[in-house]
Amino acid sequence: MCQLACDKHNRAIIQHALTKRLLLAVADSALATQAADKIFTPAGYRVTRVHSAPALRAALRDDKVPDLILIGNPLSGGNAFQMAANLKAKYPSLPLIMLGRKVSASDLERAKELGVIDYLRLPLNGKTALAAVRRGLEQKRLWEKWLKREAGRISAALNRRLGEMENILRQVNEGVLVVDKDQRIVSMNQALRETFELGEADLTGETVESVISNQGFLNALKEGGDRHEMQTQVGRSFHVRVSRIPKVGIVASLHDISYLKELDRLKGDFVNTVAHDLRSPLTAILGYVELIERIGPVNSQQEEFIKRVRSSVHNTTSLIDDLLKLGRVEAGGLDEVTPVDMKLLVANSLAGFQPQLQKKGQTLRLRKVEDLPPVRGSRTQLSQLVDNLIANAVKYTPPAGEIRVRLRREENQLILRVADSGPGIPLEEQSRIFEKFYRASNAPAGVHGSGLGLAIVKNIVDNHQGRIWVDSKPGEGAVFTVVLPVEKEK
Ligand code: ADP
Repeated sequence: MCQLACDKHNRAIIQHALTKRLLLAVADSALATQAADKIFTPAGYRVTRVHSAPALRAALRDDKVPDLILIGNPLSGGNAFQMAANLKAKYPSLPLIMLGRKVSASDLERAKELGVIDYLRLPLNGKTALAAVRRGLEQKRLWEKWLKREAGRISAALNRRLGEMENILRQVNEGVLVVDKDQRIVSMNQALRETFELGEADLTGETVESVISNQGFLNALKEGGDRHEMQTQVGRSFHVRVSRIPKVGIVASLHDISYLKELDRLKGDFVNTVAHDLRSPLTAILGYVELIERIGPVNSQQEEFIKRVRSSVHNTTSLIDDLLKLGRVEAGGLDEVTPVDMKLLVANSLAGFQPQLQKKGQTLRLRKVEDLPPVRGSRTQLSQLVDNLIANAVKYTPPAGEIRVRLRREENQLILRVADSGPGIPLEEQSRIFEKFYRASNAPAGVHGSGLGLAIVKNIVDNHQGRIWVDSKPGEGAVFTVVLPVEKEK
């Protein structure tokens, strides 16, 4: 009866052991053979034998970590305790049993401190050895069970947190898109989907360009930074901010500024109307001022006053003209779009400024211009652009200074460069000079201006999908560079 029950019990143990792998590291090969062949293999364990510390390390290298390791002390080629400590640090749940011919009290103490299951005397006693192995494996099972439970608990908490974050992201009104370094979509929120009409499909892993066609947005994503604006097909305007987040990728957020744009438009309309209404009386004032001198002699003081009135009216008229021009270019559209020969345009503009250049004794250097393809755009606006840049160079450069103009092609872009030897622009103000009414702090006192010229230029450049920037060191002149796309060859 007992025989039957005991056999059944043994079979169960063997069955359990069959799946377990033991690594036996014992220097004495006779002892190792005895332990493997007489004790562990008959009990159903799969045993791998090694005889030195390097062989033990090699056996572990290819990710085949056994279920339990038995380490003999001493171990040739390495210190058994050090080996045990290293293994414990690397595989905390891996049970270790130490084996030795002599087991001193201090050895036992050290092994205990390392968390070793047992320290058995060689040659092994079968029963004791199997009991220690079973204890070790049971401890490992409990360890792993606990680890699994903990990992489950932590990942559930993380998932909950992730869910909350996604919820928040979904709820925010700003569109948010996260892409990886290869511009593949990592995540996006509902607001962004709505902005680009992307529906509900899962777009994770797709490239942005295959999903979003808005060029303004794609350029912003490529260039980075927080100074981009884009329009959607339905006429909404967005401010785009792009930042790199290490280990996450690139995050773009869209802030709807349509209402600000609308306000700006209304304000522009108002200014336009007022400017129009002011222009006629000013023309009348100027007309009457001209008449005063014609209808009779004026004394020198009256003559001086008339000069001042005329100059003030001129300044106000040119401010109003600038406001009206700005209103027109800010409307964004290009009324008459034609192929524009920029070479001709620059030549005409320079010819117009000859009298002023001569009066100030300034030298003009125009680099020989090769034949260039035309730019597609508004001739009126592009000629305003060139006029304003050259006018500034002439205006701010002192007498006898130098102005250099260069026009060239680079691939499918046309590059206009206007450089002068004037006072330059302080570095910290360079990004502001394209704002309306902004005048740099070093603008010479006697040089009048509305602060609108470069705002007009910037709008014109934007209307033609170009770029403009200034390079300058105060005291060393300024270099304005405009890049415009050339008309595509058919
Ligand atoms: P403004 O009517 O005052 O010339 P702009 O918008 O054309 O207005 O220029 C803005 C400011 O930028 C100017 O007031 C001036 O301070 C600076 N600026 C523009 N062009 C030059 C230049 N070529 N050299 C030095 N400063 C310049």
